[in-house]
Amino acid sequence: EAKKQGRNKHVFFEIDMASRAESAYSLENELRVAVAQNQFFLVFQPQVGVQDGVIQGAEVLIRWRHPDRGIVPPFEFIPVLESSGLIYEVGKWIIREACYYIRKWQDLGLWHDEAWLSVNVSPNQFYNPVFVDDVMEALKEAGLSPTALELEITEGIVIRDTENTIKKLELLRSNGIRIAMDDFGTGYSSLSYLKRIPLDVLKIDQSFVRDITVDPTDKAIVEAILSMSKNIGLEVVAEGIETEEHYKFFKGTSCQRYQGYLYSPPVECKRFEDMLRERVVA
Ligand code: C2E
Ligand code: MG
Ligand code: MG
Ligand code: MG
Repeated sequence: EAKKQGRNKHVFFEIDMASRAESAYSLENELRVAVAQNQFFLVFQPQVGVQDGVIQGAEVLIRWRHPDRGIVPPFEFIPVLESSGLIYEVGKWIIREACYYIRKWQDLGLWHDEAWLSVNVSPNQFYNPVFVDDVMEALKEAGLSPTALELEITEGIVIRDTENTIKKLELLRSNGIRIAMDDFGTGYSSLSYLKRIPLDVLKIDQSFVRDITVDPTDKAIVEAILSMSKNIGLEVVAEGIETEEHYKFFKGTSCQRYQGYLYSPPVECKRFEDMLRERVVA
């Protein structure tokens, strides 16, 4: 009986693997169609000054408008874009699209010269040899200063090829583009690489923020990140601020900006433009 069950299990396992491989394959095909037909769009989540409550910029997040399934979140398709190589084309589009919006909002008088959009960069996109050229080209085409963009990298990028990463980041920063470390604290070598990686901003991962008012360990970690950042001159962004309690905690610290559902979830461009207009009028 046990043997039979074991064998059945094995068969099910194989079927499961096969269907998973198949669905990854069809997802990749669907993504090729999505690229060809431009089914992606960007949403924007405001980043707000902790002390003054003013929108200082926004993080750009991608969405896929699937013809049958509706809006698909990035964790369902970014990994396939990465593994298929499609990330190069889509990543390039994201940066050009972000520059297009900044240009538009500057022309409409909705965007300060010092404001920026923060764009997520994935490893295979970053490691493409023409990545820096592409970014500079996109800025130039839109007639923007490089300070209009902030790039969010992750520890996954850093650990893959640290020397190469440092060189590219130095080049980007010498051109005036700011670099943020996303999801800070969730990786393994956070403290040792901070000394060597050229950075401007740390984004405290939302997993440390969630229970900050009840979990003394999370509170201690966040306080350590804040005091260290202050000492080495890094700006800090708190991610995932969902409640007044979260906000109150950061209000009493040196944290410069925050983003989260409390102020606004990521919103489509029309809604974001309304938020910018309200700010200008106010
Ligand atoms: P991330 O860069 O750390 O983005 C933050 C995620 O947290 C976003 O999820 C955002 O919608 C969500 N979030 C914002 N405020 C709150 C909050 O108060 N509470 C909670 N629980 N969540 C909040 P999203 O848009 O689903 O993106 C997930 C991840 O997918 C991103 O994490 C990023 O790693 C990746 N991603 C999204 N857009 C892009 C993109 O354009 N390019 C690349 N390479 N990756 C992207
Ligand atoms: Mg991010
Ligand atoms: Mg993050
Ligand atoms: Mg994340």
